[in-house]
Amino acid sequence: MSTVKNWQLGRDMEYPYDEARPQRQIAYIFDTNKCIECQTCTIACKTTWTSGKGQEHIFYNNVETKPYGFYPHGWDVNLLDKLGPGEWTSSPDQVVNAANDPNAGKNYVYKGKTIFEAGKEVGERALGYAPEEEDYASPNLGEDVCAGSVEQGAFFQNIHNVWMYYLARICNHCTYPGCLSACPRKAIYKRPEDGIVLIDQSRCRGYRECVKACPYKKVFYNSVTRVSEKCIGCYPLIEKGEQPQCVKTCIGKIRLQGFISKPGEERADNPIDYLVRIKKIALPLYAQYGTEPNVYYIPPVHVPIDFTQQMFGPGVQAAMNTYRSAPTDKTLLSALLMFGNTPRIVHSFKNEGDFAIGYEADGKEAVRVPLDEPFFKRDFFDKTRKVFRLNVT
Ligand code: SF4
Ligand code: SF4
Repeated sequence: MSTVKNWQLGRDMEYPYDEARPQRQIAYIFDTNKCIECQTCTIACKTTWTSGKGQEHIFYNNVETKPYGFYPHGWDVNLLDKLGPGEWTSSPDQVVNAANDPNAGKNYVYKGKTIFEAGKEVGERALGYAPEEEDYASPNLGEDVCAGSVEQGAFFQNIHNVWMYYLARICNHCTYPGCLSACPRKAIYKRPEDGIVLIDQSRCRGYRECVKACPYKKVFYNSVTRVSEKCIGCYPLIEKGEQPQCVKTCIGKIRLQGFISKPGEERADNPIDYLVRIKKIALPLYAQYGTEPNVYYIPPVHVPIDFTQQMFGPGVQAAMNTYRSAPTDKTLLSALLMFGNTPRIVHSFKNEGDFAIGYEADGKEAVRVPLDEPFFKRDFFDKTRKVFRLNVT
């Protein structure tokens, strides 16, 4: 085991290999407040990469309803159960669990065990489990099922007392991948040029140690090819400066793909760095697993914080407060307007007057979006065409 730095945990941790950060690290931000679970992303990915024999159950991208949706069934609660409770502290003796934490936004330290540290205790590279075949039987399990119940005779009083939200999931192209750590064939590797995690299909022998070790269950076994496979980050598109299929096709414009800088090297004009490390409104999913996942989520603002804190960590309250301030913060708003408005990868952005502008790696303008969406009111009677028109939107 080597000792490596995990900035998401605020401490060093043990990992089977030395720290080897890529030159650039692919990263994504998903805004859970905007997802409508239309599954366009899921289908775009499925038709692009996994429509073959043996791939029927394989969803590199899936969207599940929390709290009761899972794919595969129980993927997160099963591992959380095995790992046991872990605490975050913002000072050596203070445990963070309060919704209105006075230290919100400060640096936190995870005091529990990661999957690598817990795995070592039981003689495994990473603590994990292998899902049963039937766990893959229902990709839409729990869809649109709410938490809480409504009293008989209740009526809508402005605030919903039941809740749910949609969680879009892909491979996190982790900095310290659980899948890679566990492969006895060394068939899994992380590309140095962009940090995308891939499986070398010719080296893989289908031992499925990666399926067991990925805490997000984003490696799948194909029983026809008899090897494992996973999201490839749409690398042919990335190499052309384009965002992946699931990002480009997203109806809700909830997604942004770019590159996150190494810790300590963040740039305020990089929208990913800005939202993740500077404004801290986008948080990693289950950072406590220790893989340093690179999909970051803007947490849902309507969900009880006890629930979102265990998924996205102790920075949730601060993230929600900052997110709510976006209408009056033109730079923050400009960064958020980079989502879903261009197929190109945005390397830098700025606010200029009433516009948000995004640029490609060579400085070419990729997108220009008005901060206020223009509003057009049509005449009720169109004299040219002699028709009546309704303004419905
Ligand atoms: S396409 Fe976008 S809005 Fe639709 S389910 Fe996927 S992430 Fe959500
Ligand atoms: S999410 Fe899973 S499959 Fe993807 S890199 Fe991390 S451990 Fe590997």
